[in-house]
Amino acid sequence: MVSRVIPVDPFDLVIFGGTGDLARRKILPGLYRRFRDGQMPPDARIIGAARTDQDSAAWRLFVGEAIDEFVAENAREPELIAAFLGRLSYVTVDAKGEGGWSALKAEMRPDTVQAFYFSVAPSLFGDLAERLHSFEIARSDARIVVEKPFGRDLETAQALNATLAEHFDEHQIYRIDHYLGKETVQNLMAIRFANILFEPLWNAQYVDHVQITVAEEVGVGGRGGYYDQSGAMRDMVQNHLMQLLCLTAMEPPSRYEPDSVRDEKLKVIRALQPLKGDDVVRGQYKASGDLPSYRDDAENASSLTESFIAMRVHVANWRWNGTPFYLRTGKRMKARLSEIVIHFKEPPHSIFDEDAGSRPNVLSIRLQPDEGIDLSVTIKEPGPGGMRLVDVPLDMTFADALGPEAADVPDAYERLIMDVIRGNQTLFMRGDEVEAAWAWTDPIIEAWTKRGDKPAQYDQSSAGPEEAMMMMHKDGRRWREISK
Ligand code: NAD
Repeated sequence: MVSRVIPVDPFDLVIFGGTGDLARRKILPGLYRRFRDGQMPPDARIIGAARTDQDSAAWRLFVGEAIDEFVAENAREPELIAAFLGRLSYVTVDAKGEGGWSALKAEMRPDTVQAFYFSVAPSLFGDLAERLHSFEIARSDARIVVEKPFGRDLETAQALNATLAEHFDEHQIYRIDHYLGKETVQNLMAIRFANILFEPLWNAQYVDHVQITVAEEVGVGGRGGYYDQSGAMRDMVQNHLMQLLCLTAMEPPSRYEPDSVRDEKLKVIRALQPLKGDDVVRGQYKASGDLPSYRDDAENASSLTESFIAMRVHVANWRWNGTPFYLRTGKRMKARLSEIVIHFKEPPHSIFDEDAGSRPNVLSIRLQPDEGIDLSVTIKEPGPGGMRLVDVPLDMTFADALGPEAADVPDAYERLIMDVIRGNQTLFMRGDEVEAAWAWTDPIIEAWTKRGDKPAQYDQSSAGPEEAMMMMHKDGRRWREISK
């Protein structure tokens, strides 16, 4: 099955921070892939804008190297790369100064879609927004894309929203959470709302509990100082895990439209119960052989910041009353894995002998690696030996089910940038959603800070601290294995 590529309208995309790490690793290689697949029209233009003083030729060289490094070899076609680089230009601007802005204005065309990607530190968002207006560069239909972190608590998020709102309407602001751009995340909505099979069972009556895991193998080395100011709750839970929770728990929107979907997600966040002390386990990874501990990486011997967190969360509404959502995320874990797993209840009555064995159905939605969906069902074990039951997976790894093209789906960033050009905000966070998420997380962080809680220490390449296992055991449940 070959996916259909529908070209977007011609656009001028300005990447502030066009010489930065995110632009180099994700944004620019992704745009090349969209160009190669025919989704980025030939007359689209990409304008790099950053503080580095260089000309367009030097930036093209930088982008060419980024493509060599981050685009798969079989997708690198010299003629196409040359044509892509031909769509690029560069302007030196200082977000805090006056230089370069008139030159940037001269680059913009009057009648193409206009988008500005703020791939710079959030402390510069206000300066960029202000200058895009004072230099009369941004039109009233321009779009801006802003990166995480969107604040570090409710107060700072509100301040950031207010700053952007001085110059841009909400419908122009695209707050990016790349988890929402993953193929499987959208498939979660297709599974739920395009099949009659699942939605009737998608509630507390049939779902025992839900587990959402985002496990990373890497530590925080390299950016330990920055990470130590934030921790797993701010860096991962408040945005990525809560977004996944919302999409799993939300009511069916009336239409697959930006505000219908985002209204439903917001209702979930507002229905989250405050957490009690024993609903949260935090951890820090220990040193292991030559590998430093979290505190070594953070260069803070007395750090109380968590590199792991596990939480028991309740969505206090009619649909989910009594069904816990367990969230966990951590660094230096056994494997790199992101998944949402729905554990259904057992049938109310078993007609089979106890020794036939039976396990409840489990639906797992895997975001990485190998995006796919897997449903475990119980069948009779084939062959003689009477009625013995066994679990088998109905596996829908996209590459297996839909052919090799399905494995070649756009990366989250490139998909989301195309959505910006199309003007579709469905997979972007609205300002009130972000604020509501902070309003829920702030008191949890405040509570452990006030108590002076010390994170538990856990082994590297493990599933986190013992205390996280105990939290589940107390509830008579187990975490899923973290494996590749
Ligand atoms: P970076 O430090 O590598 O790059 C920063 C860019 O901003 C550079 O191009 C630099 O020239 C430009 N810049 C700095 N000060 C400027 C000024 N005064 N005027 C104009 N340009 C200026 O940062 P990054 O890793 O690319 O991150 C960019 C943004 O994306 C940050 O908000 C970060 O939190 C976010 N983000 C990054 C990643 C990642 O993987 N790198 C992931 C998620 C979010």
